[in-house]
Amino acid sequence: MIKAGKIKKEQKKMAKNIFFAAALMVVITYIITTPVASAVEKIPILLYHNIKEVIQADEDLLLNITPRNFSLHLETLKKNGYNTISFNEYYEYIEKSKPLPSKPIIISFDDGYISNYFYAYPMLKRSGMKATIFVVTSRMGAKVNDGVVYEHFSWKEAIEMQDSGIIDIESHSDTHRDMSNSSISDMQFEMRRSKYLIEKNMDKECNIFAFPYGGNTLEAHNLGKNAGYKVLCLLGDAKASNYKNGIVTLQRITISGDWTGAQLLKAIGEN
Ligand SMILES: [Zn+2]
Repeated sequence: MIKAGKIKKEQKKMAKNIFFAAALMVVITYIITTPVASAVEKIPILLYHNIKEVIQADEDLLLNITPRNFSLHLETLKKNGYNTISFNEYYEYIEKSKPLPSKPIIISFDDGYISNYFYAYPMLKRSGMKATIFVVTSRMGAKVNDGVVYEHFSWKEAIEMQDSGIIDIESHSDTHRDMSNSSISDMQFEMRRSKYLIEKNMDKECNIFAFPYGGNTLEAHNLGKNAGYKVLCLLGDAKASNYKNGIVTLQRITISGDWTGAQLLKAIGEN
């Protein structure tokens, strides 16, 4: 008789303990999964293009930066506590409230120049940082005598960078056409073909699209969504990061190659 009463008491105690353990788990899960970053709109996205040892007077500083200054920018970001994330991480944060590190920032490159492979990739690797490169799929491996201004990296190099986990390769159209004055069928072609080629050649999903020349229209926005993109990237330094109708549009800060660390931080702060 004594035994039966004791067992009941033990069972009650156990149930109580289980209840407290479960409650504690709920609290811990809440703390772990609650995003650190407070406002989605505040994640800065930097836009670089080519990296070059010597920039000539007639070369555009909005398209070129020296390896030395790029390295200085990375150091500045690191010293100031910024943590680089991918667009997919940003999207998961928006869609599923997946947590992000403190002071998240995105580094992106447009066009797919081989200098990204030679300079940016190893520098990012050394700094423990990551970036996204938006490639023009018809120009993969293109040399200067193929009609491009600067040489582009190949699919082989793209795969090597992607596999490292440091670089994410996404789409910047197939032929670098300005979408703001293109026909619907041309826009569709650019968005669908580049996505198809990246997915086929790299055995990965391609969910992010960056408009060449930043040219974006409402039509292009809808076509992007229909082509299967989750995020569309624009140019411009405005704050606007827009999430509507199941697709995100993001503005990027175009970096000038001559910016000092202080100027970079100022542009990020104003964004
Ligand atoms: Zn471009």
